[in-house]
Amino acid sequence: MFIHILNLKKSYQSGVVTTEVLKGIEMKLEKGGIGVILGPSGSGKSTLMNIIGGIDRGDSGSVVVDGIEVNQLDDNKLTTYRREQIGFVFQFYNLVPSLTVSENIEVVSHISHSPLNMDEVLEAVGIKDKKHRFPRELSGGEQQRVSIARAIIKNPKLLLCDEPTGALDYSTSRSILQLLQQVNEKYGTTILMITHNTAIAAMADRVFKLRSGEIVAESVNQIPVPAE
Ligand code: ADP
Ligand code: ADP
Repeated sequence: MFIHILNLKKSYQSGVVTTEVLKGIEMKLEKGGIGVILGPSGSGKSTLMNIIGGIDRGDSGSVVVDGIEVNQLDDNKLTTYRREQIGFVFQFYNLVPSLTVSENIEVVSHISHSPLNMDEVLEAVGIKDKKHRFPRELSGGEQQRVSIARAIIKNPKLLLCDEPTGALDYSTSRSILQLLQQVNEKYGTTILMITHNTAIAAMADRVFKLRSGEIVAESVNQIPVPAE
């Protein structure tokens, strides 16, 4: 099992008030799979994803990603894990405005080992001709393609996408989802995606419905049997 989470709990303290944000999450996703986390705002989706990606830590429970017990890593090992194994894609792209497309992508390839080269990833995400543009000169969909290129240049085992189409119109969203499926197929990258959009869930192998810090439903989509 690529992601295997057992009884994960997380609380936030603010003053004297403790809020339990994750209340014993259980979750499994196969290697090379596409998982979707659905749920209302405030249900704990980002907290869960950030713990899986090593940005945040759980209080208790077990989070195993490709054999690594993420919750037990010390700070240095957690940083190495995050840099080498995880790619992040966010709703608002998080590009550096003063850097060109290729410079935005290089930022990450300098700090991590990058098994893929710049031209290959630009080609893969379909923006080879925009290499020297600045983010403000690109559409939202193109900016998201840059952020996907930045995430995949280190060939991460796991791509974590937090509302990757949340700021995009319908047809652009579709093309970004197709791109993520292509990345999944081409590089075998396991993908876990947060969304509010139930239509997006149709492309997933597994859908986890989160409500108030608990997984209330899990569904496995049927893989269509090809016609003879
Ligand atoms: P979602 O992604 O589903 O909208 P989040 O994981 O962002 O949910 O947040 C879940 C709950 O945890 C919310 O009530 C939010 O206010 C709270 N929360 C998230 N991050 C923090 C934090 N750093 N400090 C305190 N509370 C937080
Ligand atoms: P560090 O802050 O320890 O240098 P990195 O910047 O190497 O960690 O984090 C690795 C990846 O995680 C980068 O691709 C970066 O874009 C992403 N990342 C981590 N935390 C955040 C955050 N809060 N907002 C946006 N991106 C983040």
